[in-house]
Amino acid sequence: MQFVDLKSQQNRIADDITDRIQAVLKHDQYILGPEVKMLEDQLAEYTGVGHAIGCSSGTDALLLALMAYDVGPGDAVFTTPFTFIATAEVIQLLGATPVFVDIDPETYNIDPECLKKAIDAFAKDGNSSTPIPERRHGSTLNPRGIIAVDLFGLPADYDRINKIAKENGLFVIEDAAQSFGAVYRGRKSCSMADISCTSFFPAKPLGCYGDGGMCFTDNSEKADIIHSLLSHGKGSDRYTNIRVGINGRLDTIQAAVLLSKFSIFPEEIELRQKIADKYSELLTALNMDIKVPFIPPEIKSAWAQYSILFKDTNTRASVIENFKDLNIPFAIYYPIPLHLQQAFESLDYKKGDFPFSEAASEKIFSVPMHPYLKPDDQEKIIKAFT
Ligand SMILES: *Cc1c(COP(=O)(O)O)cnc(C)c1O
Repeated sequence: MQFVDLKSQQNRIADDITDRIQAVLKHDQYILGPEVKMLEDQLAEYTGVGHAIGCSSGTDALLLALMAYDVGPGDAVFTTPFTFIATAEVIQLLGATPVFVDIDPETYNIDPECLKKAIDAFAKDGNSSTPIPERRHGSTLNPRGIIAVDLFGLPADYDRINKIAKENGLFVIEDAAQSFGAVYRGRKSCSMADISCTSFFPAKPLGCYGDGGMCFTDNSEKADIIHSLLSHGKGSDRYTNIRVGINGRLDTIQAAVLLSKFSIFPEEIELRQKIADKYSELLTALNMDIKVPFIPPEIKSAWAQYSILFKDTNTRASVIENFKDLNIPFAIYYPIPLHLQQAFESLDYKKGDFPFSEAASEKIFSVPMHPYLKPDDQEKIIKAFT
């Protein structure tokens, strides 16, 4: 049994993938070949967003989005500490300061109420219950934007986040690395923010056979800037450089793989939904003290992960032993919240700053999740809980 089974998927479309890669070998345009534009057009249409721009990874998509807003030293960007390192890493990499905001314990996504408090803490010059790095350092930071994360495939609460952002003159970036294919109140993931960023890392809902990512935006000016940034800040031609950028393009071969995989993607999202429903049904029937994923009304997860919460760390530890004994794969996303990571030591956060993120790290547990999980295997996984 595998945590993510890419082979079963490949077996379905092996000939098509080979044909598409052969076509690239034939036309020889390995950088920005026609497949990249084709993929961008198809994913723009699917998400309902004006501009889709292929790039080299989900991390680079986030980096490009922040660069498009000229984020740098002195800027503060609000985000969640309960996410993959890349979300906050790109903020710090540009010399800006990540300001962490605790999660909603029901959804594991950034809590709009805590976000409001953190923004207010800047305005009020401290004296807030919300820990912000500015107060600790006495420097003056300029709040610029928010990176919300759609953790495990579930979109964050964008109606509230976008409203708060508007009231405070902040931009919103959607980290949709795990949520491509999800739906929020009739809108597709990757269409929820000023700029949305997804990842095509192989294990994500829509993955390629290497690294890849995409930025989405309805803002034509930002789209132009991102196009320029990912080709070394090019101007009207390749050797006129009007800004400092990166080498951040999506490979043509990866776009070819993605075109093939995208042809079966909507069906795979349905399969993931069925598997998630089955998990919730079987786990609830166990009558253990386990919290199955909560999906708010009018929202559909892309089910990148199926993650449950144990009542405490010890229960998790004993179930982990069962999984190991039975050789069933599992994962813990994420064992250390970002405010307690050494990489962010300089921000001076401490244990206790974000209780819900810390509690989730101690009790969260993810089981195998992919569209081709067999009913037998799912039964075996459930048995491992008891
Ligand atoms: C995977 C992931 C990323 C980074 O994507 P890469 O393509 O691996 O660079 C960023 N944010 C989140 C939430 C992720 O899960």
